[in-house]
Amino acid sequence: MSHRADAVVAELQERKLDALLVGNLVNVRWLTGFTGSNAAAVVATDGRRFITDFRYLSQAADEVGDGWEHEIATAVLDRAAESLPEGIRLGFEDDHLTVKQHARLVELLGDRLELVAAGGLVEALRLSKEPDEIEKVRAAARLADEALTEVLAKGIVGRKEREVALDIEFAMRRRGASGPSFPPIVAAAEHGALPHAQPRDVAIGEGTLVVIDWGAVLDGYASDCTRTFATGELDPRDREVYDLVLHAQQAALAAVKPGPLGREVDAVARQIIDAAGHAEHFGHGLGHGVGLEVHEGPRLSKQGDTPLAAGQIVTVEPGVYVPGQVGVRIEDLVAITDDGNEVLSSLPKDLKVVS
Ligand code: ZN
Ligand code: ZN
Repeated sequence: MSHRADAVVAELQERKLDALLVGNLVNVRWLTGFTGSNAAAVVATDGRRFITDFRYLSQAADEVGDGWEHEIATAVLDRAAESLPEGIRLGFEDDHLTVKQHARLVELLGDRLELVAAGGLVEALRLSKEPDEIEKVRAAARLADEALTEVLAKGIVGRKEREVALDIEFAMRRRGASGPSFPPIVAAAEHGALPHAQPRDVAIGEGTLVVIDWGAVLDGYASDCTRTFATGELDPRDREVYDLVLHAQQAALAAVKPGPLGREVDAVARQIIDAAGHAEHFGHGLGHGVGLEVHEGPRLSKQGDTPLAAGQIVTVEPGVYVPGQVGVRIEDLVAITDDGNEVLSSLPKDLKVVS
């Protein structure tokens, strides 16, 4: 993965920095391949150091790629800070360091070198996925889809939301997932109107909508998908909301390609939902990036001010939430290609009746 450190070095030169101290474990993993729970890395224009503690001595030897000098220490950040040359400009991850860690860095380094906030530097590089990363997200999505298919085949009507959520999680783990990418959401009827509903100890009834939002982590990479199912004949009011969200989702999906800003794609779905009189019922962004983390950049929302680009993986997930009545969300996971996109989610979106 030394090409990733090379990309960091290019960014350092751009920002007139001499080195970057990386303490965020996801960024450390992306840079070095290390999957343990305690490490730091220093990428400098003239060298690369990887620091972990004694427990990970042999794991680091297996995982961390060539080109990294390995060090073992009890306090990894202290060790990372040591032996940095005087007078350099050192970038640090201001959106990850705790106040305490920052104070410690100032104490250790403050009068020797210049500390420069460089939050988001690695995250910006992580936006663009390499082919093997796309393959891993695709595999996680496939596993999650198979797990849900298995659970639905057993039926969900009469079962508690929480049981179905646990079942989904277990089915994913049994297929090899290291875990869910977030606790699965299973929310029936009016409970579906909460975008981040916690599954309840309430049985799923007949003739209503059920929102299921779930994802797996496989080989470090996350998936994320939502489908809304019917459990029998629906109130026309609910059917109308479903058709609206599906229409908005498909229109936004067609707009996902290199070029437009995140907020422009968000607006495609939002205009359709607004025009149907549900403006205040779509209170979250259209989507987000997915990779080593289930929520990462880029943002597809009113705040999305970077252009989409080939190699990014994003979700497209409009929703309509009518408090006390009904909620519908439909979410696909999408890889942006040179001339459009490829949908990584495989389950159909025509309203499916499950019993
Ligand atoms: Zn989701
Ligand atoms: Zn999502």
